[in-house]
Amino acid sequence: MKITRITLYRYDIPLKAPVRISLGTIEHARNMLVCIDTDEGLQGWGEGSPFWMIVGETQASGMAAAQDMARLLLGRNSTDIGGCVDALVRYLPGHPTTRSAFDMALYDLAAKAANLPLYAYLGGAKRPLITDETIYLDTPERMAEIARIVKAKNRDDEPPIAIKLKLGTDMQTDIARVWAVRQAIGDQIPIRTDANQGWDVPTAIAVLRAIGNGNVQYCEQPIRRTDIAGLRHLRQLSPVPIMADESLFDAVDAIRLVREEAVDYFNIKLSKSGGIWEALKINAIAEAAGIRCMVGCMSESRLGLTANAHFAAARPNVIFCDLDGCFEHALDPVVGGLTYHPYRIELPTVPGIGATVKPDFLANCEQIVIG
Ligand SMILES: [Mg+2]
Repeated sequence: MKITRITLYRYDIPLKAPVRISLGTIEHARNMLVCIDTDEGLQGWGEGSPFWMIVGETQASGMAAAQDMARLLLGRNSTDIGGCVDALVRYLPGHPTTRSAFDMALYDLAAKAANLPLYAYLGGAKRPLITDETIYLDTPERMAEIARIVKAKNRDDEPPIAIKLKLGTDMQTDIARVWAVRQAIGDQIPIRTDANQGWDVPTAIAVLRAIGNGNVQYCEQPIRRTDIAGLRHLRQLSPVPIMADESLFDAVDAIRLVREEAVDYFNIKLSKSGGIWEALKINAIAEAAGIRCMVGCMSESRLGLTANAHFAAARPNVIFCDLDGCFEHALDPVVGGLTYHPYRIELPTVPGIGATVKPDFLANCEQIVIG
């Protein structure tokens, strides 16, 4: 199955309100779409959501890189996913989010050619997935108010949920945020926390000790992503398990984190790993080391989120999902794809990822055709 044409779309989605984390504020999801055509008439779709503060890519740099990547893939056999991904990595190291859009489209094609939904193509089953809901940085009172709304949304006949709190500004406010939310929602619902590298080691120890008996499931990336020794030190002293997010992009990072015994959990995102090809390696390393994983997201629409969810479903070592990136989107241009009930994820069972974007929405997106 030969790649004959690749279309790139500048894929902007407005947010309901700006989203604030300790690294900065996002006011618009500035994403990109990749559509790969083949000589057998099949089409594969992929999405990248470049979160520049984490991956060092913007929509502009991604769209520029994607044109070179597309030229490199023209004429190649699309089912040779490893060969295609390897060619992209060798040609342009970095740009994991842009690469992940191509990887996603190649997996979409391969699963369609095999006539299997992506989770089955990856060797998995359609198992139940529950996403948490993220509450972004705000005052403790406002975060508690949103937590109450999240709790009320979950129906009694659906599985239990978790609430993820963004932290990482200052010690006093962060501790107040967690306890305000805990007080608002009662003791049952687990709280997940994410400091997005906002603390130093002493601050992290102080905060995690102060919230340790608040049914806090874990803390993502408490300190700078490069400080692996700090993570290891923190892990030994913290009552809250530690999860690597920004410290974990690829399989090499995974081996280092395992070797240093630096964290309890991994947060895998296709936008960091460069796609499913590398994410499978990360998860295999984690599983062999006894480390369980979460699958997370940036600000993808339901297309990219569906690809992440297929990957999560296909690997039982993934025990947490944080696939709520589109909850903040003011509109949903995706056709098909996963659905939320309200936090249980239902995957499509048609071949491939099972999601595309409405043609009338695409008609208004800037597009670049290669081939
Ligand atoms: Mg995170």
